[in-house]
Amino acid sequence: MRVITCICCIDDGDEKKKKTSSREGGNIELGQDSDILKKEEEKAEIGETKPGINVQGYCANMDCLAAKAKLPVWVSLGFGDISFNSEKTSYSCPDCGQSSVASIVKAMIFNSEHSISSNDNLISVKDKHYQCFYLIKSGLSYEVKAKKIRQHATSLEDLITRSENAMMDNELINLVAELQKYLITVVKPPKVKDKIRLLEKIKCDYNGDYNQVFDVGRFTILCDNATKLQTAVAVMKKAEKFNLIVSEDKDFFERQSKTHHRFHNIKLFVPKHDVYVEMQATLKNFTTLEGHTVIENPKLSHLFYEHIRAWKPKNSEEEEDLKQASDETLTKINDIICEWIDDKGIQKLANRYKSHLDIGILKPPQLTKNELEINDNVLLKMAQFVYEQLCTFTPEKMKGKAIYAILYEYYKRYLIGDKNLASCADFALLLQESRKQEMEEDIAIAQALETYIPLQANKYPHVDGEENEKNDTFDCHQHVIKFLEGKETSEEKKSEEQKRKAMIIQGKSGSGKSIFCRHLEEILWNNYINDSKQPIPVYISFPKVYHLKNEKDIILQVLQGKHIGKESMNAIREKVSFVFIMDGFDEIFDKYSQSENNNKYFYDRFHLNQWNAKVI
Ligand SMILES: [Zn+2]
Repeated sequence: MRVITCICCIDDGDEKKKKTSSREGGNIELGQDSDILKKEEEKAEIGETKPGINVQGYCANMDCLAAKAKLPVWVSLGFGDISFNSEKTSYSCPDCGQSSVASIVKAMIFNSEHSISSNDNLISVKDKHYQCFYLIKSGLSYEVKAKKIRQHATSLEDLITRSENAMMDNELINLVAELQKYLITVVKPPKVKDKIRLLEKIKCDYNGDYNQVFDVGRFTILCDNATKLQTAVAVMKKAEKFNLIVSEDKDFFERQSKTHHRFHNIKLFVPKHDVYVEMQATLKNFTTLEGHTVIENPKLSHLFYEHIRAWKPKNSEEEEDLKQASDETLTKINDIICEWIDDKGIQKLANRYKSHLDIGILKPPQLTKNELEINDNVLLKMAQFVYEQLCTFTPEKMKGKAIYAILYEYYKRYLIGDKNLASCADFALLLQESRKQEMEEDIAIAQALETYIPLQANKYPHVDGEENEKNDTFDCHQHVIKFLEGKETSEEKKSEEQKRKAMIIQGKSGSGKSIFCRHLEEILWNNYINDSKQPIPVYISFPKVYHLKNEKDIILQVLQGKHIGKESMNAIREKVSFVFIMDGFDEIFDKYSQSENNNKYFYDRFHLNQWNAKVI
C-alpha cells in the first residue's frame, strides 16, 4: 500500500477544487450533507512556486507577519536532491527572509521528473506529472529528487525514431481528435526537422546534448480565442485518459517569454515510446505558422531571431549595444504579433509607417564589401537582411505596418547611424533645408522669385550684341519640363542621341538665367513633394564651387556642401534620380577652357555619367 501519493493523481476533483479556491477564494457552494449554504474558506497562498521542488510550511519567527497569522508559506528549492525531517527544517521564509520555516506540511513538485520517499515507506514514488502535491506527515524524514525534464534517448537517431513513432501512435492521435472535435486546429509537423539544422541547434543551444531537444516532433494548437485556448490546455492536462502524461507546462501566454512569443508550451510524455513530445498552443491570430497565419510577412520574426540567436558580442561595447537593440526590436515585433501591445498602441506604431516605395530605402554604406565578407560578419549580415526586408515588404494591415515602422526605426538608428542617411526622403529633407538656408542668404533671388516672369527662349545660338528679332520664341520653362519628362518629339535628335541627358540654356548676362534656374528648382521640388518618384533638383552655382582640380568630383563636392555625408554617396547614387541645374557656366568658362583636359564636353569632365541625372 502506498503511503505517499500525489494528491492530484488519486483525486483529481479534489485537487481541482483546491486550486480554484486558492485562486478565486470565497466560493459559495452548496453543502452536500446539509441544506445550509456553506462558504468555502479562503486559502491564502504565500510565496512563489517555481519549477522543481517546492515545500509548504510554517514560519517560526515571532516577528513574521505570516507566522503570526499562522499562514503556511511556499519555499521554492529548485531542482536537485534534498532530504529533510518535517519538524526540523530551517528553510528561508519568503515573507520575513529569515531561515525560520521550521515545519513542512506539503510538497509540490513542478515541471520535473521526480521521486519521493519517507522513512516509514522506503519504496519511493516516481512520477513525471507536471504538478504533483504530496502531504508531508509530521515527524517523518523525507528524501526528494527532482530533475529537469529530459529525453531518454541513446542517440539523436534514437530520439528521432521515438518521436516519429510517438507522433503516429493512437494515443496521440486520439488526443488530437478530441481537440479537433471542438474546432481547435491542430497542426502536425509535416516531417521531422531537417537534421543539419537540428544538429546545429543542438550544438549551439544545448552544448551538444540531444536529450534537451523537445521540438523534434512538435504539434501546434491554434485556437480562436483565449477561452478556447484555456479549454484546450485543460483537455491536454487530462491526457492521462489517453495514456499520456503532461510533464511540463510553461505558460508563456500570460507571462512573457524572453522573446515575447506568446504560447503555452506543454511537454507530453508518451510512456509507450519513452519520449516527450511538445505541444505549443496559441491563438490563430498570433501564429506565424505558414498556411495558418494572418500576419503579413510572417517569417520576418523568425528570420530576425535566427540572425541574433547565436550572436555573442565580443568585439566592442558598440556591438554589445547593437545586440541589445536587436533583442529589443525582436521583442517589439513579437509584442505587435502577439498583442502584448494593445490595439491602440499598435495603431499608433502603424501611423508612423511610410512605404519604401515612397521614401526609398538607402543601402547601408557598410555593405560595399563582397558577399563572403558579409556572410562572415554578423553585423553586416544583419544590415543586409534588414535592408532587403525593408526594400521588399509592403504591408497593408495594421500589424504589418507597425512591424515595418519598428524595423525601419531600428535600421535608421542602429544599422545606418546618425551620420548617414537611411532613405531618399531623409536625403531630400536635408537638401531642402540647405536650399532654404541658401535662399535666406540670397535675398535678391528670393525676392525675384516672388515676382517671376516666364522666360522666353528660341532655338538659335546666342550671339552677344544681337537682339533676337524672330518671332518663334517659346516658353522656356515648358520646354525644359518637356525635356525632363523625356517627351521631346524631334525625330532627328532621338536618333542622334538615344537618351539626351543634358540641355543647355544660353543667354546674355542679366537675361534671367539664374532666376530661371532657381524657379525651375522650386517647381521641381514641388513636383517631388507631391510625388517622390520625381527626380530631385540640385542647384549648382559654378562660380561658387568650380575649381579646375575638382572637376570630376564637382557633384560630390556640391552635395557635401549641402551637408550630405560622404559615406552615403554610393547609396544615394544607386537610388536617387536627379536634375542638376548648373548655373553660371559662362562665368567660369575662361578657367574651364584653360584646363589641359582636351575633352571639351563638360558631361564627361564632371563625371556626370556616375549619376542618374539630367542636366540643365
Ligand atoms: Zn517568516
